Amino acid sequence: MLQQLYKATRHKRSQGLDYQMVHHWKRQDPNLWNLSRERVWKRDRGLCQSPESAPPKQQGLCQGSIALSDCHIDHIRPLSSGGSNHARNLRSLCPVCHALRLDEKHRSLTSQLVKKGLIPVRWQSLSWL
Ligand SMILES: [Zn+2]
Repeated sequence: MLQQLYKATRHKRSQGLDYQMVHHWKRQDPNLWNLSRERVWKRDRGLCQSPESAPPKQQGLCQGSIALSDCHIDHIRPLSSGGSNHARNLRSLCPVCHALRLDEKHRSLTSQLVKKGLIPVRWQSLSWL
């Protein structure tokens, strides 16, 4: 099953798709992504992998241990910067650390967590790369 999915992905890559489509496709097939998610979460023993030096950890906002359903899988090098979906480019983050990682696409998540009171309104000084 997994092999077939990998094969299908490789096949798509070999076709001359324009950048937009390739970029879109690089978000893994949902079934494959669920497997990757679970694997990365297990590898990280369900612990948020943000660096000890990251402000959310320093300030005690990091949730530390996270359930698979709450776990955010982060692309260490973003897909938009040429990062891959390979396990070595993926890590488990708690929602707080993920939202505070400096990346424009996380802004809506940041405001959700501010509303829930998990992140201070002035979160800018807590962001990290
Ligand atoms: Zn965290």
